[in-house]
Amino acid sequence: MSRVSISKVGTDVDAAFALAMERAGCVGVIKAGNRVVIKPNWNACAIAGSTKLAVVVAACRWAQAQGAGEVIVGEGPVPVGREKIESYLAAMGAHAALAAIGVRFVLFDDAEHVLFRDRENLPPEIGIAKLALECDVLINIPILKVHSCCLTTLCVKNLKGCLRPPDKMAFHRVGLLPAVVALNRLVPSQINVVDAIEAMEGDHNRGRLVPLGLLIASRDRVAADAVASALIGLPSGKVPLLKMAAEAGLGEHRVEKLEIAGEPLVPQRLEFPQDSLKRHYPDLDIQDDGACSACQAALMDGLYVAGGNRKVKKVAMGAKSKPAEDALVLGKCLSKHFATHAHVPGCPPDGTAVACALQGCVPEA
Ligand code: SF4
Repeated sequence: MSRVSISKVGTDVDAAFALAMERAGCVGVIKAGNRVVIKPNWNACAIAGSTKLAVVVAACRWAQAQGAGEVIVGEGPVPVGREKIESYLAAMGAHAALAAIGVRFVLFDDAEHVLFRDRENLPPEIGIAKLALECDVLINIPILKVHSCCLTTLCVKNLKGCLRPPDKMAFHRVGLLPAVVALNRLVPSQINVVDAIEAMEGDHNRGRLVPLGLLIASRDRVAADAVASALIGLPSGKVPLLKMAAEAGLGEHRVEKLEIAGEPLVPQRLEFPQDSLKRHYPDLDIQDDGACSACQAALMDGLYVAGGNRKVKKVAMGAKSKPAEDALVLGKCLSKHFATHAHVPGCPPDGTAVACALQGCVPEA
């Protein structure tokens, strides 16, 4: 049975991190002389939506105390350009804080990548940071955030930062969720910690921070994500990415099958991007009656990729919806409307096909 620890964080983040590791059964994972890579979510878009520097520093110190021979913090941020990445890291104080404890930062974009070709559910070729693949222990530390495509973006999704920059968008083109699961089958993640000191709701970078004061830790990445998701109002089975990851053998997504150590799991409802769609897409009329989260996630994925090229103003999904005559219809639940409406088939529909249809592509015959 996978164990997940929930630990309160006070002013001493190092002590809280060490307790989280002990409760999660992570003591002893690092052997003397090991090379440890710490992978935060340092996206270069918003410091508020990033793993806290104090948590990363605490992880570095803990790894050193466990006997690591070398500790490296590695990240491949959103491809926003070198200047923005450097000013983001400088504003965070990352280089100085890591140098002070003898840890180096490696921008994965500049590092060597191992190439994988023609793998199921992945783009024709991807490159994964060699450091992440070949280190002795990878400590995966995302911040707890909601996400427009995946509902939550946590340990499983965080490994996308190990890719070469162009591979990240290519994941959206082939289908984000199955691609992320396939990536996780290639990248080991021995220790998984969700920084839930503050969680971001509403949007994964421009949202609001909600103080939770917690660290969630596990050897099992899917289990850590499942507990973090449950904590913000998504019980077992409600996050398609985690269900798919569990089906791929990556871990346990059913919270009731997990051993919870430390603090009790007390769920609270955060605002999800679906809730805040009206704020972000005020001109989009979404007729959603009974759609499951997989259809909603496909729409989010499509909206993200379509961006400013979107032409469609009305979307219908869910078996009980009655689509307006000019609505784009999503998913096989509404297949009886396919003859009369622009539509994207599938259950769930593919996010890439949704993006195409939102931009006015000719519907499938
Ligand atoms: S088409 Fe499939 S994914 Fe979409 S609402 Fe219906 S059952 Fe759910």
